[in-house]
Amino acid sequence: MPNRAERGIIGYNASKGQSHWYVKIRLMASPSKTSNVRTAPTKAPIAKAAASKKRAAAQPSTGVGDAARHAAEVVRLLRRHYPDATCSLDFQSPLELLVATILSAQCTDERVNIVTKDLFRKYRSAADYAQIPLAELEKDIQSTGFYRNKAKNIQNCCRLLVEKHAGHVPPDLDQLVELPGIGRKTANVILGTAFGIASGVVVDTHVTRLSRRLGLTTQKDAEKIEKDLMEKVPEKEWIAFSHRMIQHGRRICAARKPQCGVCPFSAVCPKEGVEL
Ligand code: SF4
Repeated sequence: MPNRAERGIIGYNASKGQSHWYVKIRLMASPSKTSNVRTAPTKAPIAKAAASKKRAAAQPSTGVGDAARHAAEVVRLLRRHYPDATCSLDFQSPLELLVATILSAQCTDERVNIVTKDLFRKYRSAADYAQIPLAELEKDIQSTGFYRNKAKNIQNCCRLLVEKHAGHVPPDLDQLVELPGIGRKTANVILGTAFGIASGVVVDTHVTRLSRRLGLTTQKDAEKIEKDLMEKVPEKEWIAFSHRMIQHGRRICAARKPQCGVCPFSAVCPKEGVEL
């Protein structure tokens, strides 16, 4: 049963709701219990912090800091597992990459590389593509699919390059997206891969799928996804990031059957939208 002094202290503590005040007054009231009460103010906050840390670790990431840390971890793992990832289209110049990128729409890079092997021997400059009869260009690229549209875009694009840029591909995002058949994605590919300019993050079908599954974005629109990625991924990583994501998408995180069981991202990946 507590003595009078202790009863008074307990009453005081309950009204304030602060345990350290309780300890302090108790020390004054009951010196004989010093050794017991001295440990209370130091141990309680430590135990409280440990419990809170444990709870926080079990919670899904929601804050800005958590999102940034998560993105940094994804970037680190990509760098570790795909250190040499690069564009899988064959090219020797910005013009060749521009043509190959137009041809790669709805077509595999392997097929494009087969077609461009002969195509790049036959067409050496933008003027060559600009002058050739359209039907001949269509025939040359037929096996890449959607060849009529692609041939028209390549020819119109090359005509504009001849007229406005002396036949050269401009290393400028605004000028590139003015060219027929060149959207922001293709412009980012050309600038990043042919010129080494980090104008943005290439968001193709693989980057879209993986960014959502890995919890880097909840967006569906390519430009909004790119905006999220540009905010979370350091600018110096933008070019390699896309190449690495594309390689991971091809090798492990396939559209239909992601191999989460062998995936090096499994521990950090929320697997958004994946049926397990
Ligand atoms: Fe894709 Fe699964 Fe790997 Fe996540 S854990 S990146 S969903 S394969």
